[in-house]
Amino acid sequence: MSAKILLIEDEEKLARFVELELCYEGYSVTKAFNGRTGLELALSGGFDLVLLDIMLPELSGMEVLRRLRRGSSVPVIMLTARDSVTDKVSGLDLGADDYITKPFAIEELLARIRTALRKTGQAQETELLTASGLHLDVKRRAVTVNGEQVELTKREFDLLHYLLKNKGLVVTREELLENVWDFDFDGGTNTVDVYIRFLRTKIDELYNIKLIHTIRGVGYVIKDE
Ligand code: CA
Repeated sequence: MSAKILLIEDEEKLARFVELELCYEGYSVTKAFNGRTGLELALSGGFDLVLLDIMLPELSGMEVLRRLRRGSSVPVIMLTARDSVTDKVSGLDLGADDYITKPFAIEELLARIRTALRKTGQAQETELLTASGLHLDVKRRAVTVNGEQVELTKREFDLLHYLLKNKGLVVTREELLENVWDFDFDGGTNTVDVYIRFLRTKIDELYNIKLIHTIRGVGYVIKDE
């Protein structure tokens, strides 16, 4: 699966250029032209990396980073203006993973992206995913709701993990089959519904929370209450 990159940049020409280059490299790219929309998208949790401009309308890049870091460890590369040492330092202090100075050569940006993604590839194992009082510890393969341990089978855990990784995004049954079940599994998409029911029995119903939402005719989405 190709890495999903969120590009928060208000200079539309630059954003379009970077998007084209990244798509050409096989990344999937979502653009946001202001800080507020960018932050909302970044918090949805469906991205592997965020490219964040500093000078943005509505919410500055620094503010986006500050708020994002309260709940997300997604790698962030800041796009800073030339010679703005203060921006670089505060960006790194606030938890940016790297920065690149405008104007940049696209090859340099691509190299930084590869490095940042490689690092998370190794660090991702310690990831903690959350929604509506539920915590999923990727490394320990443990799930708790309000601090209470939930016992899940391997398949249930993998399904929940995939939905949580894509929190806020609707995931189709086909996508779930492709990513959670084995490649050659041919049980049909109603298998997904069966496992969703198992999860709802063990989580939504038992703890009286609305975690997994059905989008009729499309698939499922996990939303924060
Ligand atoms: Ca800007």
